[in-house]
Amino acid sequence: MRSETNFSLKAFNSFAVDAIAPTIYFPETIDHLKTLSRELDSGSYYLLGEGSNTLFYEAYTPCIVKPNFRGIEITETPDGFKVVVGSAENWHHLVISLIDKNILGLENLALIPGTVGAAPVQNIGAYGKELADYCQSVEWVSLTTGEKKVLSNEQCQFSYRHSVFKTPGFKQGVITRVSFFFPKAWHARTNYGDLKSLSPASSAKAILEKVIEVRNSKLPDPACLPNAGSFFKNPIVDVSVVKELRAIYSNLPTFEVDEKRVKLAAGWLIEHAGLKGFVRGNVGVHKNQALVLVNHNNGRGDEIISLAKHIQQTVVNKFGIKLEPEVRLIGAQGEQVIDDIELTQTC
Ligand SMILES: Cc1cc2nc3c(=O)[nH]c(=O)nc-3n(C[C@H](O)[C@H](O)[C@H](O)COP(=O)(O)OP(=O)(O)OC[C@H]3O[C@@H](n4cnc5c(N)ncnc54)[C@H](O)[C@@H]3O)c2cc1C
Repeated sequence: MRSETNFSLKAFNSFAVDAIAPTIYFPETIDHLKTLSRELDSGSYYLLGEGSNTLFYEAYTPCIVKPNFRGIEITETPDGFKVVVGSAENWHHLVISLIDKNILGLENLALIPGTVGAAPVQNIGAYGKELADYCQSVEWVSLTTGEKKVLSNEQCQFSYRHSVFKTPGFKQGVITRVSFFFPKAWHARTNYGDLKSLSPASSAKAILEKVIEVRNSKLPDPACLPNAGSFFKNPIVDVSVVKELRAIYSNLPTFEVDEKRVKLAAGWLIEHAGLKGFVRGNVGVHKNQALVLVNHNNGRGDEIISLAKHIQQTVVNKFGIKLEPEVRLIGAQGEQVIDDIELTQTC
């Protein structure tokens, strides 16, 4: 198996922060993973896809395991297409190549950066669709025991930006392949945000083009302005909280989750806390998208953590709502929650 030591991860994360991996492994077979399960101590490594939902906030990281499972296999059935994809394949390339073959469904999820293997982890979603809508099963190998499992859609426990792969039992394992099923009976979904301007009879190609156009016009390209997309999750709160907030902020945007819970727009909260476009040192809040934190000038990961803590505090002070990061925060000892990260340098 290929591996490297003292490896700079600057080109391997979309915030473009520098951090050194003592060792990085590139497993590409189940046997490689079994070897790693014997060699690595539990919890002493981080699994990396393309690093577009990851922030390295210290000079060093733990060992990095970067799976390199490749391939796209398509099988036609009378009513649809089964597609099995290696976890290292790029998500957007998959979307484009399927739509080119007239296999429809993922058009709303175009241009989401990252790998196919990371997509089930937070159940990626955009414009009214999410991975869970088409994921049939996920092949996963434990890095503790070397055991392989195939989890059904139900066993993956998908919900908003969440799945079983974020829980302790499954965090220490590698997603090797993801299986999808796309029914031939396809329906356009255009009832979300900017897609509402499209006709409900639009083709998948028209939706794809619109999603690409809107995302390119709204979101900063990490290749030009390093970022990890939405830094915080949209908070889900009790309806009673919304009633209180609405009494003060009548234009507060809300999205119903169920009878008792409502999703708020984290970007709106940050913007109305006065932080849109806020710059501190080398890093800041994007001038058009308050939910996106950006690395303007070769900033460090701890500068971004410091900014995120400042945003959290400002939003709590103004609205009484605590924002939780969507981005995974990785220090030398592994993943941490933001409240446990103590910053040693003045940022
Ligand atoms: C500009 C921009 C826009 C974005 N827009 C969206 C959006 O609209 N919707 C959305 O949901 N997300 C969005 N994101 C976030 C990001 O694209 C997704 O979270 C994506 O799935 C991350 O893929 P990655 O390979 O880069 O993951 P990484 O950042 O490398 O890893 C993310 C998590 O997945 C785990 N992981 C990675 N590979 C594997 C594997 N093979 N097996 C097990 N665990 C693994 C990692 O350990 C980590 O916990 C955006 C990001 C950017 C930069």
